[in-house]
Amino acid sequence: MHLYFCVSQLNKECILLGYDVLSASSQLNISILSGNTMASFNFDCPHCNRPQTVTSNDQDSGTILFHMSKSALGHLGLHGTAVCCANPNCLQPTIIVHVKKAGKDSLGNLHFMREAPLLTRRLIPESSAKPQPHFIPQPIREDYLEACRIRDLSPKASATLARRCLQGMVRDFTGVKAPSLYKEIEKLSELLNSGDAPKGVSEDSIESLHHVRSLGNIGAHMEKDIDVIIPVEPEEAQILIDLIEILFEEWYVAREKRQSKFAALRVTAEEKQALKESPNPEVSEKREQQ
Ligand SMILES: [Zn+2]
Repeated sequence: MHLYFCVSQLNKECILLGYDVLSASSQLNISILSGNTMASFNFDCPHCNRPQTVTSNDQDSGTILFHMSKSALGHLGLHGTAVCCANPNCLQPTIIVHVKKAGKDSLGNLHFMREAPLLTRRLIPESSAKPQPHFIPQPIREDYLEACRIRDLSPKASATLARRCLQGMVRDFTGVKAPSLYKEIEKLSELLNSGDAPKGVSEDSIESLHHVRSLGNIGAHMEKDIDVIIPVEPEEAQILIDLIEILFEEWYVAREKRQSKFAALRVTAEEKQALKESPNPEVSEKREQQ
């Protein structure tokens, strides 16, 4: 049995996307209910990062209900949503599925229970990682991508990679290096308090790093070596990932924008200076017209 989505503008034609749910030999009885369109909603494409409003033409959803009276979890169902990016340079699909509990009505028809999903997975793209620019060092980007990819499967491993990524950023961007991430944050605070915070490191960003210390098990084990795997909740791993994304923006992206602006200003100033100093009459004429 398969679950399919049809998204009309995907790669400029209607195609089917699907994945195997159960083999045909399964004894389970599966019902496919009709797909339904949804209202427009705002969406940031995880492939290209472009914010957009998704209309009914760019989305589809579908439901499969499984009759499983003997299952320890009772009847179950899958609800899937597919969205096609409206950016003509992207057009990539995003597919999310939820596994939910189901119940029977008085006619014996299955319907979803009004409960939170048992499981939610984004199938495409596989991870929640946002595209990151090349000027962020590759090892740091790789740790971030891997932390995102395994967040749901192994929050412990994800949090370990995220902590390593944070430490890599602190060391690379601020130049501060100490035996543990905890001590590096301490050192950054001291530098901030003495007015010697590294260039581009704001009070807010150091404050954000301090919040890591209030994170359950992560906070409790902050002094441990960065490679020691500690038990964490999935939410804690996500908070670390969120923090990494904030610092990517506040440190690396902000620095790049600043440097690009200064570089543009410098070029303009040099061009004006060259015009002033030019002995060429045509150039001088041009200069006077300006
Ligand atoms: Zn896109």
